[in-house]
Amino acid sequence: MRAGLEAGWKLLSQGHAAIDAVETAIVALEEDPALDAGVGSHLNRDGRVQLDAILMDGMTLKAGAVAALERIRNPIRLARLVLEKSEHMMLVGAGAEQFAAEHGFRLCDPEELITDSAREEWRKSRDKRTAKEATVPQSRGTVGAVAIDTHGNLVAGTSTGGTRGKCPGRVGDSPLIGCGCYADAEAGGISCTGYGEGIMKIVMAKLAADLLRDPRVLPPHRRKRGPATIAQAVADACLRILERRGHATGGLILLDRKGRPAAAYSTPRMAYGYVDADGGFTIVP
Ligand code: ASP
Repeated sequence: MRAGLEAGWKLLSQGHAAIDAVETAIVALEEDPALDAGVGSHLNRDGRVQLDAILMDGMTLKAGAVAALERIRNPIRLARLVLEKSEHMMLVGAGAEQFAAEHGFRLCDPEELITDSAREEWRKSRDKRTAKEATVPQSRGTVGAVAIDTHGNLVAGTSTGGTRGKCPGRVGDSPLIGCGCYADAEAGGISCTGYGEGIMKIVMAKLAADLLRDPRVLPPHRRKRGPATIAQAVADACLRILERRGHATGGLILLDRKGRPAAAYSTPRMAYGYVDADGGFTIVP
């Protein structure tokens, strides 16, 4: 968490753009094998890693999304390439990897993404005697970042290996615009985690953006007492709706259009942190 925040803050404090900060922070997290993104991601049913990522620019509303990648070590970098160099918003599988290669990306050996512990977890899940043990929730999770720069550019990104033991070809909420990520400079930037099939039902990141834009739709008592900021009330409201309508648990981090942070989760755990405009770090492990 600290490595991601420091990497992003270093760029922002030197005057770089929000997109550089978000990309760099997420690369740091993708490189951490303890997290479910890039190296160390969960394996799917076939014992392969398939990665999804998205980066969205709140000023233009353009996104770059990639899904079901097997040979890209840092999917968030490819998401940025799609955002900046493609007329399209989302590329998947072999086509996305071809686009990457055409732009000089190294296609990695799929084995490079697999850690011993992820392989061991997969083996256990295949063996009837240990399958139960392997379904215990793990601390590894999806990663995301949101940043706003001095020019008011607001960018959000999400990167994931998806759910453990997923069906090959399954794509969750994470790379879907409005589901696992959304950014609108007039509302805020959001990155989500949790049970993708539930998050997709309520289009959670866009829901949060809409609530930020017009918090009058929040239940009145939530605005008067309780959460300290509207941003926090919005994050809390999204999780209640996720539970009630999506029958799922999850979490989200967000910045409103003024850069006020909020985070909430209903999963057993979600580490998060932020850096304020003066460079003060808050980390909630
Ligand atoms: N939301 C991700 C997915 O469903 C998983 C996660 O956030 O842990 O692919």
